[in-house]
Amino acid sequence: MKKYLENKRINLIITLVLILASVVIAFIAGKEFVDFRNDDQEFIIGPNVTRIEKFSDYNPNLKETVGDADIFILEGSVSPIGPSLLILGGTHPNEPSGQLTSVLFLENLEVEYGTVYIVTEANRSAYSATNPQEGSPMYYDIETESGIRTFKFGSRATSFVDQWPNPDIFVHPASGQQLSNQDTRNLNRSYPGRIDGYYTERVAYAITQLIIQNNITITIDLHEASPEYMTNNAIVAHPGDAMNIAAHAYLYLELAGIIIKTETSPVNLRGLTHRELGLYTDTLAFLCETSNASQGRIHGEFTEELIVEGKDKFYEKAEELGLLEANPTTIHERVARHMATIMQIVTSYNAIYNPGSIPGQSLILNNMPSYNDVMDQGIGKYLK
Ligand SMILES: [Zn+2]
Repeated sequence: MKKYLENKRINLIITLVLILASVVIAFIAGKEFVDFRNDDQEFIIGPNVTRIEKFSDYNPNLKETVGDADIFILEGSVSPIGPSLLILGGTHPNEPSGQLTSVLFLENLEVEYGTVYIVTEANRSAYSATNPQEGSPMYYDIETESGIRTFKFGSRATSFVDQWPNPDIFVHPASGQQLSNQDTRNLNRSYPGRIDGYYTERVAYAITQLIIQNNITITIDLHEASPEYMTNNAIVAHPGDAMNIAAHAYLYLELAGIIIKTETSPVNLRGLTHRELGLYTDTLAFLCETSNASQGRIHGEFTEELIVEGKDKFYEKAEELGLLEANPTTIHERVARHMATIMQIVTSYNAIYNPGSIPGQSLILNNMPSYNDVMDQGIGKYLK
């Protein structure tokens, strides 16, 4: 009997210790989660930014919500009238080269003719948490001449805090296509969006309205893909005029030594920028992909180095065996590639639509480094 009571006492103590440890761990994890969510990424607004608008200007339902992202507008110094460009960074915050490229444009670009709209955090809610069960870092650093710049590394999807509960099957409202549950929270399955739909659809609606109300000529949505994924180092374009520009851009990029693919936006995959923006707006819609090892399924430890350097022993083996669609590279190459692709798409647009170079009918962009500049000096050299 005494032994029984003694065992019971020990069990009780162990249980209490375990409960206490769980509470402490839950508190620490919860605090980390809340701190990360409340940590707003600040962007350096250069002198070339002439106006800042918000997503809520295009969808009032986003006002005072986490989704109310900034839209940085750079108007041409000679004339803002003419073709315009929207650069969409941060659709998927676990694909960092998209955001970093938009920041590179924000901090360097000078517009001579036309207007450029830059979004650095298309899905702000997805910057408020990391992907569950991935063990990914929350931040990564880039060394610049003025010190270390820290960027947030988020999740592919909207946080459950901002959109819950969600249906088991996501029915894309504009087409009726059935998609997986997690696509309910995927901004790049939610276009053209709904003014009063789920949070993610409200964000997509704001972006669609931004394009419609400003009659934006070219929209480029920046992404990354896992090295084994087929659509990689690629420009995906809406069929028709956008595809003609992509084909022109492809030739010039390859001549410059940047090996890239073009793909026509698949008819049957709905909700994506390159499909829906091409259907529901007059913009020329493109989506670009680069090869990011941290997104792949076969990488080892998820570290900052993996995000920035793209180096992983399992991917190195897969590369050796020739199993990859596109070999993983550094964030410098991925940003340089996105940037060069944007510049070439604009140059190709100008060549096709304004062959006589009539002033005011081309979008003229200056002061961006070249692909080789970024490769030689690193992205940090061109960040403030
Ligand atoms: Zn993506």
